[in-house]
Amino acid sequence: MLVLNIVNLFLKGEHMKNVILILFSFIALIAIFSTVPVTAKSAIKKSSKKIIVIDPGHQQYANIDVEQIGPGALKTKYKVTDGTHSPYTNKKESNLTLEASKMLGNTLKKRGYKVIYTRTKQNVNISNRERANIANKSKADIFLRIHADGSIDKKEKGFSILTPSSKNPYISKSINKKSLVISNEIIQKIEKNKKIKDIKGIIYRDNLSGANWSKVPGVLIELGYMTNKEEDKKLADPLYIKSLTNSIADGIDQYIKKK
Ligand SMILES: [Zn+2]
Repeated sequence: MLVLNIVNLFLKGEHMKNVILILFSFIALIAIFSTVPVTAKSAIKKSSKKIIVIDPGHQQYANIDVEQIGPGALKTKYKVTDGTHSPYTNKKESNLTLEASKMLGNTLKKRGYKVIYTRTKQNVNISNRERANIANKSKADIFLRIHADGSIDKKEKGFSILTPSSKNPYISKSINKKSLVISNEIIQKIEKNKKIKDIKGIIYRDNLSGANWSKVPGVLIELGYMTNKEEDKKLADPLYIKSLTNSIADGIDQYIKKK
């Protein structure tokens, strides 16, 4: 029809401006139609990426206002604390968790995951419940909380994963089971890593606000003890953290593959 219109206009001897206008509309229409499938394709590709929300534990300063430890809970806890620290170097847990989280996030991005952080800097004020909400709103496939341990007993050391027990009253049975599967997959990869000598394993905990407010599967990883001199030294080595985070990413791959 357009071609016929153009020919007719020529025949009628109308002004060239009309012809150019029609030609431009024609080109614009082709341009619009040719871009639609590309946009749709990339949207599909983006939405198929698995989403990992990483929560670098703690923050620069504690917020000692309280919040319920889970939906309907009578117990409350501080909104967020500033964590442990190394008595040898004075490094804060919140610094270590941020470094390790970024390393893990970069590895996961390279492996094709969409990574969302609850925080990317020290000076924030985000409660543990709010961190869980970030994971919930993002519809995360996995909510990974990264922490390091501290103890009065300086001999205490080892990597561990905190996961909800089967009796946890705040989360659904399905989220509970999936969280345990994630814990198992990660611990198996950690056990195969020859660099990691001290492993405490999986520990059941039901008093963690960040886990209890979560509507997506998740685990809390304790990288090791900053209060143990030998382990603190390892945790300060980027190569050791890289090795740890690679094993964590391997565990995540394994869980996603089987899902
Ligand atoms: Zn912590």
